[in-house]
Amino acid sequence: MCLKSFKITNWIVLYFGLVGLFWQVECAENKYDNYSLIKIYPTGIQQIEALKYLEEPEHQVEILKKSRSFNDSTDILVSPNDVPFVKEFIKNESLNYELKRNYGRSFESVERTPKRRILRGFSFYEYHSFPAIQEYLDNLAKRQPDLVKLQNLGTSYQGRRMKLVKISSDHNAQNPIIFVDAGIHAREWVAPAMALYLIHRLVNDPDARKELDGVDWYILPVVNPDGYEYTRTSRANRLWRKTRSKNSQFECFGVDGNRNYGFKWAVSGVSTNPCDKETYAGPKPFSEVETQMVRNIMMENSKRMKLYVSLHSYGQYLVYPWGYTGEYLPKEWKKLDTMARIVSDAVQKAGGQPFKVLSAGKWYAAAGGSDDFAFGAVGVPYSYTMELTNGFEFIYPERLLRTVLPQYYEGFRAFAAQIKKEFCSKYIGQRCKINSSEESGTNS
Ligand SMILES: [Zn+2]
Repeated sequence: MCLKSFKITNWIVLYFGLVGLFWQVECAENKYDNYSLIKIYPTGIQQIEALKYLEEPEHQVEILKKSRSFNDSTDILVSPNDVPFVKEFIKNESLNYELKRNYGRSFESVERTPKRRILRGFSFYEYHSFPAIQEYLDNLAKRQPDLVKLQNLGTSYQGRRMKLVKISSDHNAQNPIIFVDAGIHAREWVAPAMALYLIHRLVNDPDARKELDGVDWYILPVVNPDGYEYTRTSRANRLWRKTRSKNSQFECFGVDGNRNYGFKWAVSGVSTNPCDKETYAGPKPFSEVETQMVRNIMMENSKRMKLYVSLHSYGQYLVYPWGYTGEYLPKEWKKLDTMARIVSDAVQKAGGQPFKVLSAGKWYAAAGGSDDFAFGAVGVPYSYTMELTNGFEFIYPERLLRTVLPQYYEGFRAFAAQIKKEFCSKYIGQRCKINSSEESGTNS
């Protein structure tokens, strides 16, 4: 496709002496169009081990998702030139697989005009720009000042103003805190959409009083706004994952925010190459201003924070620490596991798919995640990464949000009920009296 465009117009390009530039822009725009998505289904430990070969950087394979169970796929994006090599590998290892050609052509183009928004209001079943999200939250806080407060956190690397949404029926109550963040990985659009839907239901649904009394909700719907906006600029950038900070030494952008947290940092499952597109852990723990913000929210509220959920996509997993190792589990793993299964049941009861529940590092260890930091360094007793949706990879269609977001909301209701059950010894009005005996803090 790039070649064809070049041929037709090359006399103009040569005239202006812009061959290189033109080539670059034209090809970058269509980069993924001819790529193939290959879904590989490992059926044994040996095959899982074999798949590590594809991860080696020289193979130029982009890994979208790694399998965490035998019924699940490892999904990779492969350029047309590399398809024969990957197919050969698959054949040698006797792996089951599916191949979708021209994968990039399925990416939607995203930029929406502000006009449409003004005419139709803010829909929770669409993907919005970061400015539109901020505008919605500002208006919500103005309309419901008793329920919603915004805390300024400062600005992202590129200067976008970030605000923590605090929802409480009594902001002086000192209730247990449920902290939910989303969108540390830029391309996982369904995660911020879920965080916004959660905010919407908690604030606007009269039945949500139950979820609000005795619990304070802190929600940061877009942790990585620079990356998020970058994925909206063109189809070529739609699969960007990292932040957008500049590494001057290497002329490469971004850090994987979910490898950047300062607990067992970089001990497993990370890249030390700043130009790695997926899992570069950063030059040091908390090198990114965005992960510093999340850290600060956790540290400042560590006593009351009882649950942390980081929203990601995709794969329909609800995983808990440890992420940095698959060798062993935290000693409280049974409690973590039980709560996750209660949440999964609630989602399933609402018509959704159950979550696959396990420890994050069981199949592949990856250090520096926010869930490990919350649990291991801050002492938040319940900490999870929730991988929303299965199917459509990162390009989850807007038309399905109306179905799945309410299902996941039932999971959050279950979370709130469990937190109250465990941590409130009694209620005084809408306030929860936090159990004095619960200060287990075994992880701090
Ligand atoms: Zn993610």
